[in-house]
Amino acid sequence: MAQVTLTNVTKKFGDFTAVNDISMEIEDGKFTVLVGPSGCGKTTTLRMVAGLEELTDGEIRIGDRVVNRVPPKDRDIAMVFQNYALYPHMDVYNNMAFGLKLRKTPKDEIKRRVQEAADLLGIESKMKSKPRELSGGQRQRVAVGRAIVRDPKVFLFDEPLSNLDAKLRVQMRTELEQLHHKLQTTTIYVTHDQVEAMTLGDRIAVMRDGIVQQYASPQETYDHPANQFVAGFIGSPAMNFVTASVVSVDGTSQLKSEGFDLELQRASAQPLPEAVVVGIRPEDLSGPVDGEKNALRIQVTVTEQLGHSLLVYGECGGQQVVASLDPHSKVDVDTSILLSVNLQTIHLFDPETEATLI
Ligand code: ATP
Repeated sequence: MAQVTLTNVTKKFGDFTAVNDISMEIEDGKFTVLVGPSGCGKTTTLRMVAGLEELTDGEIRIGDRVVNRVPPKDRDIAMVFQNYALYPHMDVYNNMAFGLKLRKTPKDEIKRRVQEAADLLGIESKMKSKPRELSGGQRQRVAVGRAIVRDPKVFLFDEPLSNLDAKLRVQMRTELEQLHHKLQTTTIYVTHDQVEAMTLGDRIAVMRDGIVQQYASPQETYDHPANQFVAGFIGSPAMNFVTASVVSVDGTSQLKSEGFDLELQRASAQPLPEAVVVGIRPEDLSGPVDGEKNALRIQVTVTEQLGHSLLVYGECGGQQVVASLDPHSKVDVDTSILLSVNLQTIHLFDPETEATLI
């Protein structure tokens, strides 16, 4: 096992900067997820750790060793790709054994390691099958098995579940969690799916335009997003953003807009600007309620019953909002309702810089 350290890592393709001065420490034995929208530089970062992409600037260490000039095969890493990259003409056993054979590992040792990985992944009965005879989930298990048998210092996963259907994704996600719990191998995992990031990661790095916006535990990114981008990316449905003026009334600060008048109960370390973006998570709205005090007035446009919650979409003073309510709430489309706001969990952002104010 090993920790992976990125120091001022930059990657340029011509004039375009895909990864911009990233520094982060990936702790030994932890599961770290790189997450962000398409094109934010996650895969490029992972490929630099793997040695498949050269750095333009900066340094990557695996353990104590600087690996910038070390070829991929000598980095003691194993990578699992989105498209599995299995050898179609080899059966499952040989797909898993291939890397070890190349390394001239003794035959008995190969057999033992492949058997162990197959047991762990529940594919013992498929050892003689060719990849085309396997389901998507089974193929993905073989790809993971091929990484496990190498017993590497670091696992690298690039969107390994995105070719699977929704149900299988959830199942494989849980299996990967269990696997990491058993093996405790340092893992870097790339995904654009924030649910995958939240559920799998000990820590997650939220990326945008080649820059890490926040590197923290999943709960920290949810509770204390570093900026409006992270706040909007983590959580589903996404956090609502509504603009408001900050007004002082009888010694307290009020957040005022056309659809609401909220008392600011959280202290700010700095003076607030006159206008702010108020961030309210859909799950921090409840109701409908009767009183206007600390409530949002919403003109309902659509409702969606999910069984475990009722999603209510609407307009609040001309701004789009969504609320996640108790599934038994009575809400009709084309009516105006009041929803109570959890004042302890609202966030404020600077409308110009998108920085978190509260
Ligand atoms: P996705 O989820 O779509 O895979 P990503 O966050 O993994 O996105 P990268 O694949 O790392 O993004 O790409 C980051 C940026 O670098 C993108 O704008 C991409 O077009 C660009 N890029 C990646 N590889 C190359 C290349 N070989 N040549 C030129 N530009 C590249």
